[in-house]
Amino acid sequence: MKVCCLGSGSAGNALLIEVEGTRVLLDAGFSARGLESRLASVGLLPSAIDAILITHDHRDHTRGVGVFTRRHGTPVYLTERTLYACQKLFRGGERTMHYGAARPFLLGGLRVEPFITVHDAADPVGVVLVDVTTGARIGIATDLGTPTAAMHHALSGCDFLILEANHDEVMLRVGPYPWSVKARIASSHGHLSNHAAGRLAATLLHPRLAGVLLAHLSVECNDPDLARDVVGGTLEKAGWRGWLDVARQDVPGPFLDVEELRSRIGPDQLTLL
Ligand SMILES: [Zn+2]
Ligand SMILES: [Zn+2]
Repeated sequence: MKVCCLGSGSAGNALLIEVEGTRVLLDAGFSARGLESRLASVGLLPSAIDAILITHDHRDHTRGVGVFTRRHGTPVYLTERTLYACQKLFRGGERTMHYGAARPFLLGGLRVEPFITVHDAADPVGVVLVDVTTGARIGIATDLGTPTAAMHHALSGCDFLILEANHDEVMLRVGPYPWSVKARIASSHGHLSNHAAGRLAATLLHPRLAGVLLAHLSVECNDPDLARDVVGGTLEKAGWRGWLDVARQDVPGPFLDVEELRSRIGPDQLTLL
């Protein structure tokens, strides 16, 4: 199971997940042309994408979905309320498929386990994606104001986590946004700070957690090194020795092989936790 972040942040989000025989785009928050060029930069044609899975209606997750699906015929999976909230992007002839939170479904070789998140969108979800052949699990939760018990339950036991580390609390407070935007970001329906991401990641620690990718960083109110230090420091203190990195907004990251990261887990981590 491989994952590649094509870009993440408030200017656009798209993740590529690949298992034997199936490639899925999770969110399509760049223009169709932007998505095509990011796919080209990792060596893929748009026709290589089997499905687009949308987590919520915000523009930074849906911007290019309509044009992309009309151009390439890619089926789009989203909840009914999310489709209603971003219906302007669609003209009616597209292949849109509905799914429901807490109702797992199969997409080729992937099992999609959607769960409800707390965020100021019409019907926001996070997802766990499971490789049905190897059993590898990737948990993805960005755009959430408050981690809930149901979210913890859904994300437990993942081999790889992609979690939001949106802002540093101080940088947000003194940053350039108007007060109303700052209040929205920091609210229980907004975005997670670095410290909140560290606390969430620490509660999800288990001996076989192989990697964590921090995503949806604010360009104005965060710094990749700071996010890495805060979350990485919290996890290291708990004995975790896995792979940690920060997703970029401007360029795609590397293809990460989850099974390969799993094989790197040392005996110290298995005994320390
Ligand atoms: Zn977002
Ligand atoms: Zn959002």
